[in-house]
Amino acid sequence: MIRIKQALPALTFWLTMLSAGAEPPAPPDVPLDPQVDTFDALALPWLAAAIAESRDAAIREGVATIPRAIRAALAGYVPDAVLDRARWRVGGGGWLSLQRNLIGFGYSPAVTLDHAIVFETAADARDPKLWAHELRHVEQFMLWGIEGFAARYIANYNALENDAAEYRWTWMRQTGRVPPP
Ligand SMILES: [Zn+2]
Repeated sequence: MIRIKQALPALTFWLTMLSAGAEPPAPPDVPLDPQVDTFDALALPWLAAAIAESRDAAIREGVATIPRAIRAALAGYVPDAVLDRARWRVGGGGWLSLQRNLIGFGYSPAVTLDHAIVFETAADARDPKLWAHELRHVEQFMLWGIEGFAARYIANYNALENDAAEYRWTWMRQTGRVPPP
């Protein structure tokens, strides 16, 4: 990824050579803070818009409230407000949608777009373990909004994914779905 800021020392040097006959200064140091670099600054509005547009596409194609059996399995662990807000469907999305691309290229059997969860297959949508993970993302969206989620995902997507994975794992332990360590 070519970053515009990385070209600044060369540009500065060139301008200095044009404007003076003096010895050029050494190139200035370029801080590469991942939170403020050019790529991230461009990625944030793109990702936020992609999430909102992909969510809207899923809703247009038809979504349902959480299945009764899944809700029964997760009630008491996942907050009611999250269970009430979540919507879901299987598949769909246009060629540029996140659901088509993240699922289609095998990154995930499900993707959460704000409060809309898109599963790859109907069998995936019957798996409460997968729901536990994705509902944690719904809760993250409720807490931070789409922009806030996108900013955190870009800055450190591992932190958000680890939180969702740990959330699912804790539920599995608490409900006896895994043997004690
Ligand atoms: Zn996830």
